[in-house]
Amino acid sequence: MVRLVLVLGDQLTDSLSALQQADKHTDVVVMAEVAAEAEYVPHHPKKIAFLFAAMRKFAVHLRAEGWQVAYTKLDDPENAGSIPAELLRRAQDCGAQTVLATEPGEWRLIHALQDVPLTMTLLPDDRFLATHKEFEDWAEGRKALRMEYFYRDMRRKTGLLMDGDKPAGGKWNFDHDNRKPAKPDMFRAGPPKIEVDPILTEVLELVAARFPDNFGTLHPFQFQTDRAGALHALEHFVTQSLPDFGTYQDAMVEGDPYLYHAVIGLYLNAGLLTPLEVCKRVEQAYLDGLAPLNSVEGFIRQIIGWREFVRGVYFLEGPDYPRRNALNHQRKLPAFYWGAETRMNCISQAVGQTRDLAYAHHIQRLMVTGNFALLAGVNPAQVHEWYLAVYADAYEWVEA
Ligand SMILES: Cc1cc2nc3c(=O)[nH]c(=O)nc-3n(C[C@H](O)[C@H](O)[C@H](O)COP(=O)(O)OP(=O)(O)OC[C@H]3O[C@@H](n4cnc5c(N)ncnc54)[C@H](O)[C@@H]3O)c2cc1C
Repeated sequence: MVRLVLVLGDQLTDSLSALQQADKHTDVVVMAEVAAEAEYVPHHPKKIAFLFAAMRKFAVHLRAEGWQVAYTKLDDPENAGSIPAELLRRAQDCGAQTVLATEPGEWRLIHALQDVPLTMTLLPDDRFLATHKEFEDWAEGRKALRMEYFYRDMRRKTGLLMDGDKPAGGKWNFDHDNRKPAKPDMFRAGPPKIEVDPILTEVLELVAARFPDNFGTLHPFQFQTDRAGALHALEHFVTQSLPDFGTYQDAMVEGDPYLYHAVIGLYLNAGLLTPLEVCKRVEQAYLDGLAPLNSVEGFIRQIIGWREFVRGVYFLEGPDYPRRNALNHQRKLPAFYWGAETRMNCISQAVGQTRDLAYAHHIQRLMVTGNFALLAGVNPAQVHEWYLAVYADAYEWVEA
């Protein structure tokens, strides 16, 4: 009996659990660009273009690997408009009753899939290093959830930067060395250039026509949109920027949007790269003597520490977490978050590059736009929606 295999826009990974469990000779992969996902917040046009182009290229890749893929473009006349409706339409077309899916990263979609009147198997998303159960067990009984302790467990679990049962270099954390201010440098590498191809061109035209009023500029488009490109971006970072990543990771320089950051969050979150392969590549640079420990440890901590930790908290806290307002902050998000003029230069710089690039580095998000919103008492739901909309790497589990 034919089964449907759902692959969402942030599940573009060959080793995805749903694909691993499926049979390419009998099952049908379902992928869909739907208005419900593209429009539930006003996503940056570059974010939509990145995801649609990456989805289309992943579908081409799956077909080349022998999968049958039922792919729906946003402007297909038969597009049913939402993931559940697309599953029902495809189930009817194929005579399928059963869906294999990897658990979505967002409560909203998990609940939507559970309500689909088909037999739904939701498999764990094992691209992440910690399971929900592992995180719950770790959190159980603790007075406070400290990322640092969770991170040490993840180091032990993965064996990354370990000398037996001791941390490489004798310390778990080298942040003490990572607080240097950076100077302007016109030769800092930034991310690599991209090649525009027919799939990307078609998607850019679609996005320009369908989302003309969304905050953010579409051109020039600068992101990679397939696995080969994402691997190239990773390699470029490792050779060009990783050695200085740690030393300057807390810096900000006017006019330099990237400094020594990797700009790979969007590839990780969409599944074009996996966290473990990225960390192993970075660890190898250290073992080969090409990058110092303070940079390599700092970088690996962001991924197996912070990235896994925020996901653990999101699922531990439950579906209402993004809507809580513990400080009862009620101020409206100021118009300058959407590009209105302000004389506050750091805000203006951070928002300006967000508009142009769908990217700001961590210190801008944390210390400038995030900190201002907190101090000004802005309603957290509006802050959350802004972050979700404006960054190419934004998903509720990681920014809420
Ligand atoms: C208010 C706020 C909102 C954020 N929203 C997002 C978001 O929507 N999506 C997102 O992926 N990250 C988010 N982050 C975390 C971080 O800012 C981005 O991951 C990072 O800026 C992405 O750029 P990069 O790839 O150049 O990262 P680098 O600085 O080069 O770091 C490497 C990788 O580490 C991971 N990472 C680093 N810091 C964090 C963190 N605090 N939490 C989770 N992962 C981290 C990311 O996968 C990132 O790609 C947010 C942080 C703050 C303070």
